[in-house]
Amino acid sequence: MTREEEKIIRIIDSHKDEIIAFASDIAGHPEPGFEEERTAAKTAAVLRDLGLEVHTDLARTGVRADWMEQDGPNITVIGEMDAIGCRTHPMADPHNQTAHACGHHAQLAAMIGAALALADEEVRASLSGSVSFFAVPAEEYIDADKRKRLKKEGIGFPGSGKSELIRTGAFDRTDIMMTTHVHMVPVSEDLYLGNPACNGYAAERVTVRGKAAHAAIDPWDGVNALSITSSAIQMMGLMRETFREEDHVRLHNVIRKAGDVINSVPDEAVIETKVRAGSLECIEHTMNMVNRAYEGAAYAFGGRIETEPLQGYMPIRWRKADQALIESASQLGVSFREVTEYDFNNACTDVGDLTHLFPVVNFTFNGFEGKLHGTDFRITDEEKAYILPAKMIALTVYKLLKEDAIQAKEIIQGFQPVFDREGYCRYVENSLKTETADSRKQEA
Ligand SMILES: [Zn+2]
Repeated sequence: MTREEEKIIRIIDSHKDEIIAFASDIAGHPEPGFEEERTAAKTAAVLRDLGLEVHTDLARTGVRADWMEQDGPNITVIGEMDAIGCRTHPMADPHNQTAHACGHHAQLAAMIGAALALADEEVRASLSGSVSFFAVPAEEYIDADKRKRLKKEGIGFPGSGKSELIRTGAFDRTDIMMTTHVHMVPVSEDLYLGNPACNGYAAERVTVRGKAAHAAIDPWDGVNALSITSSAIQMMGLMRETFREEDHVRLHNVIRKAGDVINSVPDEAVIETKVRAGSLECIEHTMNMVNRAYEGAAYAFGGRIETEPLQGYMPIRWRKADQALIESASQLGVSFREVTEYDFNNACTDVGDLTHLFPVVNFTFNGFEGKLHGTDFRITDEEKAYILPAKMIALTVYKLLKEDAIQAKEIIQGFQPVFDREGYCRYVENSLKTETADSRKQEA
């Protein structure tokens, strides 16, 4: 270990109580996506106290703390701020009904711990590059009604915090992203290094238009929107046999509305449909099948379909464990496992969007029990969930930026982005264009 590395560990160990208190405070005040005002204010205050230049209100609640501009690559450390809707969780907020059942408070605590160590003058002087600490809003799914409201309020990409931050240029100076999370796939080791491939998704809100009539006197004059809906969902079920295992397709429906009163033929149904898959192409392909099912069912009964696309997350492009991660985990003497190209996470995260623009150096950590997003999720080992990840972030950033940032430069050179910012925004905007049955027919 170098002197700076020893110092990083010493600083984090000496601030253990503060880091744990910060995590407990955030866990005790959960807030939903794009509404993390208290979390943002608290995070901004701690980062400001470290002498960092703090920018707030990015994508509404985001907080970015920068070092003074320094030559060399910029590494942006990400901490997610939002809690998940989970009203039966013992720590759920009674008003907003969210809880930190995805461990985002642990990420924030780790980011703060790393900032404490990296703000040290001697450590900073040994680095050839700059670091930003970015508390980001809204990683969890935002439902269709809330998106509509946010859009009216000026959030261009209300589907996810990171997407809106990309759109607004808040990541323009970033060269490498550093992300972390509690383990999302079953891993018994303390650390899981690298970024496993993971599903992306697209969603839509579908309104089925039928025609009301008396359910007993003249049902033949009606067009039953519930029948169209259930037929469409039945077709999607039968389509499942065409899904390839390697595409990891998952298809979910929630019926929000299907009629008003029992003695009238339902004339309106509203469904939210979500398609997950391992590639953008497969998501698009499956979404087209879903839309054919809706239109086919509407055609059969003589109804009509209106589709409102909802932005999803892109799949994660898998990334092996970078050398700096492996060295840091080895120095810390904990158990760890490296990601392989066969590992796969069926869930989705907007970190996937980041992997289409930036190299994302990622690891996940242990120290909890229960199910992610479940009522039984809780941190059981503060050392493993808060302190160890703080050391991992700080040591990894140090290794990437030391000695003329040689490791960071290698990562940047070896990375092939899929999109630049403009290309990304164009892709998302195109995917949100409302298609009609006619425009799809012309394409076919
Ligand atoms: Zn999460």
